[in-house]
Amino acid sequence: MTSKPHIAVVGAGAFGGWIALYLLRSGAQVTLLDAWGPGNSRASSGGETRVIRGAYGPDQPYTKLAARALALWKQHEAQWKRKFIFPIGVLWMAGRDDAFERGSLPCLRDAGIPFEQLAVNELARRWPQISFEDVNWAIYEPQGGYLLARAATQAVADQFVAEGGEYRQAHVAKQNLESGQWKSLLLSDASTIVADRYVFACGPWLGKLFPNTVGPHFISTKQDVFFFGTPAGDARYDEGNVPVWADHSDHFMYGIPGNQGRGFKIADDTRGPEFDPTAGQRLVSEDGLAAARRYLAYRFPGMKDAPLVETRVCQYEDTTDHNFIVDRHPGSANVWIVGGGSGHGFKHGPALGEMVANLVLKDETADRLYQLARFETIPRRS
Ligand SMILES: Cc1cc2nc3c(=O)[nH]c(=O)nc-3n(C[C@H](O)[C@H](O)[C@H](O)COP(=O)(O)OP(=O)(O)OC[C@H]3O[C@@H](n4cnc5c(N)ncnc54)[C@H](O)[C@@H]3O)c2cc1C
Repeated sequence: MTSKPHIAVVGAGAFGGWIALYLLRSGAQVTLLDAWGPGNSRASSGGETRVIRGAYGPDQPYTKLAARALALWKQHEAQWKRKFIFPIGVLWMAGRDDAFERGSLPCLRDAGIPFEQLAVNELARRWPQISFEDVNWAIYEPQGGYLLARAATQAVADQFVAEGGEYRQAHVAKQNLESGQWKSLLLSDASTIVADRYVFACGPWLGKLFPNTVGPHFISTKQDVFFFGTPAGDARYDEGNVPVWADHSDHFMYGIPGNQGRGFKIADDTRGPEFDPTAGQRLVSEDGLAAARRYLAYRFPGMKDAPLVETRVCQYEDTTDHNFIVDRHPGSANVWIVGGGSGHGFKHGPALGEMVANLVLKDETADRLYQLARFETIPRRS
């Protein structure tokens, strides 16, 4: 009889939580560790909501991964009798350069994700409260929408424990993880953990934990998120009347209505300045707020005087090519590095967890797109 492999997963965010759950279900003994808890305010998986959509441009694996993730989110909702997905539709507005949207169409078709292509007159008919200036056409994904972020992240960790996993809230010391010489994880309570394999799913912290392997190809960027209050007694900007939207007509802006009562969310996908996820002060910039207000008045004119009701600062854990990292450390075959969600990872949590658990337990290698070796052909960050 072979004994179960013991796997330590560091980081209980959207990636680590699902990986731990799938490893456990595949027969491993799993210890999940997190310094501040699943979906904490410093984590990239914190906050209320995340978009789930299939449009991803041409030639990429993410549309299919999102389709698989959506099926798994639904399956877990049903099993756990919890609600995580709000399928209020996703609208992609295409501008003059519509290569992303055109490239998305065959991928959506191929993945079996329902969508409509809408002309501007149809857009104006359906959503008269949106100004479609500079928009040429749009993709509407009726089954897309948003997911609860920190609530779902906590639910995954709770379920992991309910199914027999061990969760410990502890900080894993940086030590010399790159050396390939270490024999155990050193924790903040001075204890150590020895496992057969280790999965580091530490979101924006990965670059500093692995400064040689990940660091030169990775940056944690400050992303400001704004929540505006909809007019009293006016439901035009509430979920159900407005879908989740993404606007490519100039640069990439996106938003989510409702947000569990937090307000009409708006964010700019442009990468912000480098941000320290441990020590960074989470204050939005005045410039960012002014730009969000200008955008609101332009695209959602009825919201032009809307008060700011909440803000949030999150960080993208951004790789140089915006693709995920799923690979073994080049110096330690039993150490896996998983992350680089690059502003789009959350939705994929269950599908990525399923995929990574399989790779780790079978000792297989991920697609080239996710491997660290791909960075050899991409310029490093200066
Ligand atoms: C503003 C914003 C908007 C986004 N919008 C979307 C969206 O609409 N759709 C979408 O799909 N994705 C979106 N994303 C991206 C998505 O949220 C992330 O890619 C995803 O949540 C990353 O999950 P993770 O598990 O890799 O990282 P994290 O959630 O950061 O988890 C890492 C965990 O590791 C722990 N940790 C770190 N270091 C240590 C250590 N030394 N010891 C112990 N624990 C440690 C941390 O406490 C943390 O909980 C967005 C991200 C941001 C910031």
